[in-house]
Amino acid sequence: MLCNASQLAADQIGAGLRPDPTLTVSEWADQNRILDSKSSPEPGRWRTSRTPYLRELQDNLSISSPVIEFCFKKPTQIGGTAMFENAVGYVMDHAPGPGLFLQPSQDLAKRLVKQKIDPMIEACPTLTAKLPAKRGSGGGNNLEEKEFPGGMWLFKWASSTAGLRSASIRYLLMDELDEWKTEIGEQGDPEQLARNRTNAYGKRKKIGAASTPTITGASKISALYDDSDQRVYKVPCPYCDLPITFVFKHLRWTKGKPETARYHCQECDTPIDEYRKTLMLEEGDRRNLQGDKRFGWVPLNPSNKHRRGYWINALYSPVGFKSWEEIAQEWEAAQGKPAKLKTFTNCVLGETWNEQGEAPDNDTLFKRREKFERNVVPAGGLLLYAGVDVQRGAGGGKNGWLDVTIYAYGRNRERWLVDHRQFMGDTADEQSPESPWKKLEAMLSEQWPHAHAGVTMRLQAMGVDSGDQAATVYRWAALQDPARVKCLKGENLSVMVASATNVASDVHGKKSKRGVKLYRVGINLIKDELYADLQRPPPGLNEQAPTGYVHFPEALDPEFFAQLTGERRVQRLVKGKVATLWEPIRPRVEVLDTTVYGRAVSYLAGIDRFTEDHWQAIEQSLGLDITTPPPAPVVPGQPPAGASVSPPDSTRKTGHTENRAAPGRKRSKFWDR
Ligand SMILES: [Zn+2]
Repeated sequence: MLCNASQLAADQIGAGLRPDPTLTVSEWADQNRILDSKSSPEPGRWRTSRTPYLRELQDNLSISSPVIEFCFKKPTQIGGTAMFENAVGYVMDHAPGPGLFLQPSQDLAKRLVKQKIDPMIEACPTLTAKLPAKRGSGGGNNLEEKEFPGGMWLFKWASSTAGLRSASIRYLLMDELDEWKTEIGEQGDPEQLARNRTNAYGKRKKIGAASTPTITGASKISALYDDSDQRVYKVPCPYCDLPITFVFKHLRWTKGKPETARYHCQECDTPIDEYRKTLMLEEGDRRNLQGDKRFGWVPLNPSNKHRRGYWINALYSPVGFKSWEEIAQEWEAAQGKPAKLKTFTNCVLGETWNEQGEAPDNDTLFKRREKFERNVVPAGGLLLYAGVDVQRGAGGGKNGWLDVTIYAYGRNRERWLVDHRQFMGDTADEQSPESPWKKLEAMLSEQWPHAHAGVTMRLQAMGVDSGDQAATVYRWAALQDPARVKCLKGENLSVMVASATNVASDVHGKKSKRGVKLYRVGINLIKDELYADLQRPPPGLNEQAPTGYVHFPEALDPEFFAQLTGERRVQRLVKGKVATLWEPIRPRVEVLDTTVYGRAVSYLAGIDRFTEDHWQAIEQSLGLDITTPPPAPVVPGQPPAGASVSPPDSTRKTGHTENRAAPGRKRSKFWDR
């Protein structure tokens, strides 16, 4: 019953059809679609004027339209699926051909037919007349297929391989694309499989995709919209009559009083009451139809001709659906709750959610530097750990360097940057006197003065990245004290540091007896922890710093902070699967890498498990005055996972709080607008 064009024409003639070639989906829906009270909050005749922004979208699916493909990036409950339902009826009644309507799951596909498609057919006599009587699973009128003269609609789901493999289709509707599985077994990407089935129809095919977006970088609908002519819906301001796009930042209200929410025109700043929206939406559409293309759907990227893209947010919801007051309310309720903010961003704003929220701002960190001296260990610092990154220069190792950061660690994982060093030279040469490795070696016997007069400290341990130039790193490390020099290799792991493996190392042509231990480091987890730590609010005057707080001396330059914050955590489609990855956003990030390796050796040393007794023993061994009172009881669940188990000690000096340039907590961005 799936047919080619000549059969289709024959069927139409056979059925006595003389379709009006200019009838559009909107016109068909206005004339034929009745919404029943079971399936719609607004039963009665479908009126396109109720959601004027849907007119152009659904009319792309009319046979008179030259548009082949469009996508709709949208909030929830704005009518995206309803326009596809209209297209189903239109095709059955007016432009028969094979169609495939895809939902994310079987359950949703069945629900669509039961709750929307069947009621639409039952309420429309011309459609009922075209379908065989409903008979269980067979007979061409069931939950998965509807046969009609000249065509058939299949209602399938993204993981149904059979549904995606069968014959050619002319109409492809893909709903909630971002919820689709990104691959199905060996078959590959269901979106691509579905698209392949439209190939035979060439320019006569119609493809519509709609979805609420999800995560930045992993959102299929956003990828489609980005590669489209990017339309936004412009409506006239009732006061200045200029075309405006509703954007969330212009919705303003008195904090705590969402009922005062009004839209402030971005052109004339006049507050607009929500009741005016009905006319504004209609006027946008009407003026566009009358030829004023400043209104209605306006492409921001008109040079893209192969796909029309539409984006809208819930501020456009017709009066009676989601109100501006509800939007304001939901925004307030979501403050400080990332999961709710994500839902708000996706489902109300129709925007993707940035998972990189944890990327700290380098300028904020630069501004919060503190007045303590480089290479002097601040009062709270009790153990020194270094991280080393091996950098090849241009043309092999010759113009390379060893990049080193040294941090002092104290209770509660609090840490202070003590120094950042670069030992220039040929990193492939660990033997000659000019070798940067000799300078690194010298660091192992260096003594750092402590803020407490007369006390000096040496480095506990250093972690050297052997990801690059491994042979040189192993050779050098084999000659060092294994308790103080650790070879590390960064990977994506589910632990901070995995157990070590022995690797062979040649020393001057001979196999080293003891070899070298290589530790695999879960750099993903350590970066997660570090970026969370970097965003902890600075403590107030004489306040205990939060667990994991990182202090920086005044001497550091902006480049240091740019490198430290030079990566971001992103979600990417990797071989069809969503993966969380760290990506550099600038070429150089050694400070971040060395900070991570230094933290890895501190973790290996067990500082996360140290008790107050441990810390006091360390203070004693350093010759620091013991003025700390007995430890307070540990409150279960108080320190975050992975934090030191030692309790906070209110009398302990956290170092240099008196001159701290504390910017204070930032207010919510919204209220500053
Ligand atoms: Zn205005």
